[in-house]
Parts: sequence; structure tokens; C-alpha cells
Amino acid sequence: MKQRKTEVLIVGAGPAGLAAALELKRLGLTDLLVLERDPVAGGMPRFCHHTGFGILDRHRLMTGPGYAAAWVADAKRQQVELLTQTTVIDWTGPLTCLATGPEGLQEIEARAVLLATGCRERPRAARLVAGSRSQGIFTTGSLQDFVHHLNCRVGKRAVIVGAEKVSLSALMTLAKARCRAVAMVTSFPRHQFYGIYRPAKIALADLLHRAPVKVNSAVHQILGHERVEAVEIKNLLTGDCTSTPCDTVVFTGDWIPDYELARSGGVPMDAGTLGPAVDRRLRTRKAGVFAAGNLLRGAETADVAAKEGILVARSIQTFLNHHDADFPCVPIVPDAAVRWVSPNLASPEDALMPCGKVRFSVKDFYRPARVRIEQADQVLFEQRLRACVPNTSYAISDHWMTKVNFAAGPVRFSVVQ
Ligand SMILES: Cc1cc2nc3c(=O)[nH]c(=O)nc-3n(C[C@H](O)[C@H](O)[C@H](O)COP(=O)(O)OP(=O)(O)OC[C@H]3O[C@@H](n4cnc5c(N)ncnc54)[C@H](O)[C@@H]3O)c2cc1C
Repeated sequence: MKQRKTEVLIVGAGPAGLAAALELKRLGLTDLLVLERDPVAGGMPRFCHHTGFGILDRHRLMTGPGYAAAWVADAKRQQVELLTQTTVIDWTGPLTCLATGPEGLQEIEARAVLLATGCRERPRAARLVAGSRSQGIFTTGSLQDFVHHLNCRVGKRAVIVGAEKVSLSALMTLAKARCRAVAMVTSFPRHQFYGIYRPAKIALADLLHRAPVKVNSAVHQILGHERVEAVEIKNLLTGDCTSTPCDTVVFTGDWIPDYELARSGGVPMDAGTLGPAVDRRLRTRKAGVFAAGNLLRGAETADVAAKEGILVARSIQTFLNHHDADFPCVPIVPDAAVRWVSPNLASPEDALMPCGKVRFSVKDFYRPARVRIEQADQVLFEQRLRACVPNTSYAISDHWMTKVNFAAGPVRFSVVQ
């Protein structure tokens, strides 16, 4: 088995991993290695053949493949060492990973490991939807791969499960494949298409008009033999079921971080995000292991993931110079209304991160919403927001962390009306 050593090992060449690699290069680190499971680097944006990428980081509107290609071209220009078709499958030491690729198995020992493995949508099986295992069942990701990369025919009539931003990607992909979306189904009382930029709203108006959102509903059962023939949609308020004929079902959203590698490496996880627990420097509780991008909490936009890549690179450089692995922190615990908070470890004031953000997502609609952060009996922070919508994330300043008492136990994060 091949053995090698490197200063920094980056697992995953999506926007987060590539942005981190480029920033480390810019900071003067030459010895770093990026490993990517897919044959081509660039991550999830490669599959999203629509615009909506690059607004915050590249300051222009790009398509997903264009955005991914721009990161890969930058990495090539800066001579980042990038091995594709190479999957990290295990750990053989605290900071030693085992990878498999075209050259066989190799063991890579690093001084710091960055996990940037992204997230995935929960497929049908994990959502416990009853019925047949017919052809024609997708997630948004597999649909995009099917349509844009494999150039396969999808079907004629589709039902989309979910009515959040990523569901609109499925809607556009179906339109491209000449498959008509006949309904979007959400268990919430309203859709969650908030915060979409205006040109996209206009472009989508006609498609949305033809695919009515069925609220307070769930796809209860998939019917069909070889191919999907219909879905049974249950009204969650009345319990009534109706059958909707279709030959395609797309399960959208319901993100789950690609956490398996983090877990197998013994990285402590956060119960809300289901990703590794991190502080605002994106340090995990395992010394020398960092995490960035959608692995942290499911899907944010690609520019947010790339910005986290830049931040974590600075954090890794500080770690390599000062070995500051042991840092004081307390967990940030969300209340019942809050789905996740990221970062989820409060850590002391930080010159490296003078104006950081804490992101959170809620489980229900709040209009208006009040965010309250408390420790013991002390209120550390309060802010009113016009509204909070599920399946959407919100960012607040993290300056309240300066008030945290690191001997006083967990910080509570709540959202109320
Ligand atoms: C349908 C859809 C539409 C979207 N639309 C938009 C949009 O309009 N605008 C926008 O800004 N964002 C959009 N996004 C979100 C955007 O794609 C993500 O935010 C971004 O890709 C996250 O980057 P990342 O680097 O964290 O993860 P990813 O891009 O997922 O990259 C992770 C990489 O890690 C690799 N990997 C995983 N495990 C291993 C392993 N063990 N070994 C080696 N490699 C591994 C994967 O192959 C992958 O390439 C969309 C996402 C989807 C799914």
C-alpha cells in the first residue's frame, strides 16, 4: 500500500474544499492534497444546470457547471494537487486517512484534515414512503444527473415532494427534460420559496402556475408495477387520500450531511445539524480535524460553502502555526422550535473571525420571530426578525459570544413568535 505525508488533507473538491485549498495556497502553504470521489472536481454545482451561483463570492450570476468549472480552473492555475476518483474510506490513525483510487489503496498522514464532504437529500426509503419499488423515483440530485449527464428520458408527468428552494431546481430540470410537474407536495401550511432573486421568480412563474402546491399533505404511497403509475397523497389535516396519476416522483430537500467519514473518525457530532459539532473557526472537537460547507448542516448556497472554505483555511493555518487544538467552548443547544444552529459550539472572542455569523433554521413558520440566546439566567442576545420560514436559514451576528461564561454550561438558542 502506498504511503504519503502531507501538511493538510482536504476530503471533497466541492466549493468548500476547493476554496479552502486555494486560500491555503494564498497563505503560503504548498504541501496540501485534495481528494475527490467523483471523476471530475467541482461538487454539487456541476449537476445544477441553472443560474443562481456565485452571487456572494464571485459577484456575478453563474450557472452551476460554470461556477464549478471556475473553481477547478483556479485550483489548476494555483497548482493545487487534486486526485479525482479517489475516495477516503476510513481512518487508520488520528489524522491518517485511507483512500482508494485508480492507483489502489493509499494511506495519507496529515497534520490537519479538512472534511468538506457535502450533503445529500434523504431518498424515498429513508422517508418511509410505502408502495412499490417502481422505476421513475428520484431525488433532485439523481434527477439532474439523469437528465444533464446521462441524457436519459425521465417521464411525462411528475409529482415533486417538497416545496422549498431546491424543489424549484427539480421543477426546472423536469421542464428541461420535457416532463410536466403536476403537483408539489409539502407537509407545511405554505410553500417555502422565500428569498429567491427576482429574475428567477419571473422565469419560474409559468412552471409554478402549472404545478400547484398541495399544502398540509404528504406522499403516502407510490403505486405502479415496473414504472410509477400514481401516488397517493394524504391530507394531513383531514386524513383523506387522493390518487394522482404520474410516472415520475422527485424527492427534494430534507438534507442530511455526508457525515459517515466524520463519524467513523470519532469526530463528535451535533444532534441538530447531524454534522460535526464546530466552533466559529470551524474546528471540530477532534484535534486537527476541521469541517466546512454543507457537511456542517445540509444545503446552504454554494457561495456560503465557499466562504466557509476560506475561513477554515485561515483557521487551519493558525492551528498549524500555534497548535491551538484545545479551546474553551460550550455547546449551543437549540430549543424545540429550532432545527439546527451552526456553528454549534460557542467559543471566546476571536481576532481571526471578528464579525462572524451564526446560522439557524426553524421547524415551523414564525411571523414575526424573536431570537433569544440565554445562558443560565442571563439573556446574551435578542433580535426580532420579520419572519422565519422552515427549510430556510437565517444568519445573526455572533458578537454575543463575548458574553458567554465558559464555566456556566450550555447556551440555549430559542425562537418564539
Ligand atoms: C439541486 C440543487 C440546486 C442548487 N442550487 C443552488 C443555487 O442555485 N445556488 C447556489 O449557490 N447553490 C445551490 N445549491 C447548493 C450548492 O450546490 C451547495 O451549497 C455546494 O455545492 C456545497 O458545497 P460543498 O463543497 O459543501 O459540498 P459539495 O458541493 O457537495 O462537494 C462535496 C464533495 O465531496 C466529495 N466527497 C464526499 N465524500 C467523499 C469522500 N469520502 N472521499 C472523497 N470525496 C468525497 C463529493 O463527491 C463532492 O464532490 C444547489 C444544490 C442542489 C442539490
